[in-house]
Amino acid sequence: MRAMLLKRPDTPLEPAELEAPALGDRQVRIAVSACAVCRTDLHVRDGELPEPKLPLVLGHQIVGRVVEGGTRFEPGSRVGVPWLGWTDGTCRYCRSGRENLCPDARFTGYTLDGGYAEQAVADERYCFALPDGDDVHLAPLLCAGLIGYRALRFAGDAERLGLYGFGASAHIVAQVALTQGRRVFALTRPGDDAAQAFARELGAEWAGGTGEPLPEELDAAILFAPAGELVPEALSRLAPGGRVVCAGIHMSDIPSFPYELLWRERSVASVANLTRADGDELFALDLPIHTVVEAFPLERAEEALAALRGGRIRGAAVLTI
Ligand SMILES: [Zn+2]
Ligand SMILES: [Zn+2]
Repeated sequence: MRAMLLKRPDTPLEPAELEAPALGDRQVRIAVSACAVCRTDLHVRDGELPEPKLPLVLGHQIVGRVVEGGTRFEPGSRVGVPWLGWTDGTCRYCRSGRENLCPDARFTGYTLDGGYAEQAVADERYCFALPDGDDVHLAPLLCAGLIGYRALRFAGDAERLGLYGFGASAHIVAQVALTQGRRVFALTRPGDDAAQAFARELGAEWAGGTGEPLPEELDAAILFAPAGELVPEALSRLAPGGRVVCAGIHMSDIPSFPYELLWRERSVASVANLTRADGDELFALDLPIHTVVEAFPLERAEEALAALRGGRIRGAAVLTI
């Protein structure tokens, strides 16, 4: 099968012809049709996350059709494969509904091979049946959507929601938040007029650069941008009792800040991974989410990653296979 392979961190993905992966117990073989590109892929590619499987097929937002294996899905069924690829099911986290924190968890496109390839194998218990829609537009829901949704839940009942970094995840979260009656404020890199216009098109009532004055305080802020200096910046925007939710797997160091920014029951939280229940819940909502995608053929994965790194993707980048 054709695949784009990461041989060593911080080197370009290379086109490769690989043996089709062997099928294990409870696994399905999937003919991949689309795989969205996540910022986490970039962190793995750039060597910012420790101990990836090597060589590695990246990609954890897979949409494809079951070819064989398992008992849960008929051959030909469309399935989605997310970041959470396997958990032990026995640890204190798994037993308490927090499989996202399982210390033995395996992750698609990081410690397991992922979907930048013609085929992938996945444990059927961690795959999702998907709502209606075309494969390319559904793919970003599998991480940008799911992690974003989990982050939104961590924001509690915040009415005035700030989104830092208006990329793949924020453009989905904004739509979910608006259907819930929240008000969305988008904060981007200063001068990123395209991202700000995009946010306004999707219903943000205000969009501007970090550091610009906001018309109101925020009840919560979700940070998708991996920049630690945004934590005190976001805290400084919060009303008392508000929360800053860090949604990324990697972030640069958070600079120290005066306690005054945290005082009055403000809090900072991080969101790690996802649970299968998050996916079941999001897909059951059956919301009218319109993902905006930029499609690249599999062979141009490096170009897609470079565009994401440079902030040049409107919505989500998706590889088509
Ligand atoms: Zn566990
Ligand atoms: Zn992801």
